[in-house]
Amino acid sequence: MSITNQQLFDRAQRTIPGGVNSPVRAFRQVGGVPRFIDRAEGPYMIDAEGTRYIDYIGSWGPMIVGHAHPEVTAAVQKAATRSLSFGAPTADEIDMAEAICKLMPAVEQVRLVSSGTEAGMSAIRLARGFTGRDAIVKFEGCYHGHADSLLVKAGSGLLTFGNPSSGGVPADLAKHTLVLEFNNIAQIEELFAKRGSEIACVIVEPIAGNMNFIRGTQAWHQRLRALCTEHGAMLVWDEVMTGFRVALGGAQQVYGIRPDMVVMGKVIGGGMPLAAFGGRADVMAKLSPLGSVYQAGTLSGNPLAVAAGMAQLRLIQQPGFYERLSATTQKLMRGLEAAAARHGVPFCTDSEGGMFGFYFSTRLPQNYPDMADADVEVFKRFFHAMLDRGVYLAPSMFEAGFVSAAHGDVEIEATLSAADAAFAELARG
Ligand code: PMP
Repeated sequence: MSITNQQLFDRAQRTIPGGVNSPVRAFRQVGGVPRFIDRAEGPYMIDAEGTRYIDYIGSWGPMIVGHAHPEVTAAVQKAATRSLSFGAPTADEIDMAEAICKLMPAVEQVRLVSSGTEAGMSAIRLARGFTGRDAIVKFEGCYHGHADSLLVKAGSGLLTFGNPSSGGVPADLAKHTLVLEFNNIAQIEELFAKRGSEIACVIVEPIAGNMNFIRGTQAWHQRLRALCTEHGAMLVWDEVMTGFRVALGGAQQVYGIRPDMVVMGKVIGGGMPLAAFGGRADVMAKLSPLGSVYQAGTLSGNPLAVAAGMAQLRLIQQPGFYERLSATTQKLMRGLEAAAARHGVPFCTDSEGGMFGFYFSTRLPQNYPDMADADVEVFKRFFHAMLDRGVYLAPSMFEAGFVSAAHGDVEIEATLSAADAAFAELARG
């Protein structure tokens, strides 16, 4: 063996803070040495030591057709020969905008950007510019990227570090962000009754994927929709994770609810830096160069990212894609539940399309406090027991998991046999 993950981690920490370029990769919650990935194929990732893992992270969501899909790779290679960036519009960007607008009817116009953070930040600015109001509402445990206004009791890596907010965010800015409990109808009703005319937007992950996997209830989402309409606030759905993942039309299709604005990322870029925000045409008309709300990007609509994204969007539109993806996810969930039951470990799961969550509890969590109560020690032991057996789960119990179309019976069976042994280990105490 020429190099180990430990050697790479030691070296990385000298020049990269924490040795990683995004915090949750550092294995801080679960402990141990992060795997430095050399390459990935289909459902597998191979680390620097040559160890192969079944991957249930999928680059945190984008890799819905599996890694290095030949059609996605070929599209990027072809685009690369035509130059990596122009800083001028292209016909391919129109194809992508048309595809997004077709798949998500709430999106009448869309702008492409390079990360979910950028998309969320821009959507908030546009909602404020359109309504002329400052206050925004978000929900505890939801993560919408790391823009200042949104790092107020945000989820994801922040929860992992047990840090409810971030350093470097001015209190003067954070005070405009009102944080309520997920799935709590009484709280949002009370807030709108008191301050409805000040609220620019309500931003929400329809199915939260940054505090594990927690579904917004249909009744709560309907109430959010009605209250926003009544008070002239924008309902912004952050579908960075759920978009093109829980169903072809995203969570909007699952719930049958039409938000005013939508934030997208991950799957639409096929693994390249590409995200988007869009929505009602009258709202999008406020954006520069048409309107007064400024937003721009040197690499926005990057031709390689658009090529990868379009290749992936073509693949996921094939008939039966989501039925197969859901069936694979269901098989995994039912198998994990059965394995836990065999060993008497309290456990349950939830999933939608190719996105899932699992909990060491007999009751599905409804909000962040439910998740924060969960036993991290049990999760850590399960995570390492699975990793030791070649299954790569998210290294934090606050993250959702992802299945790709490349995961087949072989991978599911292998995962379930690893899980059987892992639950047996937990049961032994
Ligand atoms: N919104 C949601 C729901 C996300 O899950 C994420 C990233 N995990 C983001 C926004 C931010 O996206 P990015 O990491 O591309 O900035």
